[in-house]
Amino acid sequence: MGYVSKALEIISQRDPNQELFNQAATEVFESLSNYIDRNPAYEQNKVLERMIEPERIIQFRVPWQDDKGIINVNRGFRIQFNGALGPYKGGTRFHPSVTLDTLKFLAFEQTFKNALTGIPMGGGKGGSDFDPKGKSDSEVMRFCQSYVNELHRHIGPNTDVPAGDIGVGGREIGYMAGQMRKLTNSWDGTWTGKNYKWGGSLMRTQATGYGLVYMTAEVLKQHGDSFEGKTVTVSGSGNVSLYAIEKLIELGAKVLTVSDSGGYVYDPAGIDSEKLAWLMELKFEKRGRISEFAEKYPAEYHAGKRPWEVNADIALPCATQNEVEIADAKHLVSEGYKYVLEGANMPLTVDAIEVITRAGIVYVPGKAANAGGVSVSGLEMAQNAGFTFWSSERVDEELKHIMEVIHSLCVEFGSMRGDGTVDY
Ligand code: GLU
Repeated sequence: MGYVSKALEIISQRDPNQELFNQAATEVFESLSNYIDRNPAYEQNKVLERMIEPERIIQFRVPWQDDKGIINVNRGFRIQFNGALGPYKGGTRFHPSVTLDTLKFLAFEQTFKNALTGIPMGGGKGGSDFDPKGKSDSEVMRFCQSYVNELHRHIGPNTDVPAGDIGVGGREIGYMAGQMRKLTNSWDGTWTGKNYKWGGSLMRTQATGYGLVYMTAEVLKQHGDSFEGKTVTVSGSGNVSLYAIEKLIELGAKVLTVSDSGGYVYDPAGIDSEKLAWLMELKFEKRGRISEFAEKYPAEYHAGKRPWEVNADIALPCATQNEVEIADAKHLVSEGYKYVLEGANMPLTVDAIEVITRAGIVYVPGKAANAGGVSVSGLEMAQNAGFTFWSSERVDEELKHIMEVIHSLCVEFGSMRGDGTVDY
């Protein structure tokens, strides 16, 4: 048995129920198996055994009172996966589906993604099964404060720097960073994704989406191609999707879809800047449903469906894990897609990756494609540590540069097949 298979077997024996973590490790290790097998030092030094075991897992109780005065109890976690390259760094997810498995997969991915950025950051992730949907601002505030009442003793600017992820945006980060400051009597930039008015970085909100599109531009260039005349399907309607759409419109692509957990909308005329502004207000301010877009504009709403059945050139899955399964991947092939870049973390299943890559579709994993978000978090840490504040032009320029470097690393190490293609 090869070393990679042995390492994967350790995971499936130790944690047979952690399907997402098993999947994330399989994707990474199998894609590296040729390289690892040629270099026995990895096995001799038990590198994979070390890579699959988090350095530390913190699990805690999060009690909070809702607006009716009723006590609720959620579960909180922080996974400090690997700190070899710097303070643990990674987002916080609040979603009812969150388990230890979810966060282990995300922290594992984050470790590799952060390494790619070139900024000294280790990998971590945290979160809770708390569902912010339908909660009032004060309920969210009380939950966030309770979450930090425990978490604050485990994190710090040189230890572990959390940020946002699904269900955690500027509002939640504000509550958590504020509570942290009160408890520690220290303003030290422990959280990133803060509002720029109180110590955050400009461009952090846009960073993941913009970075994804900068990466797409590099991939197109690498293939002698451009955004001109290209159609794009995007899933999701959070930060990542909506800012990716903003940059796609700016660079001249035509965006056909957006979605949420209820379904997707298809706008054959393309989402333009005016429609995007309306969508941003709908999702960021009113916290409404995407179906409302089809009531306002001439677009089709497909309840319970995913956008991958729509004919286009580029697919950017930006919603959540495993949103592109084997049936969706077959659609991508039959609809003639050329490029798939992951804006979300692990949106493609192992089978889906297999189907699209076998069909010759260029596939870029999230660890490279969505690294722009955490990169600007790293730039926020740099600004906080230097007690300084950079212009949006400077942050954007650094972001673009980081995405270009990541792309060139992919080309350098992904061209080993020697057939002129890049295995991203
Ligand atoms: N949650 C984001 C990610 O998946 C950002 C993490 C961060 O900024 O620390 O990369």
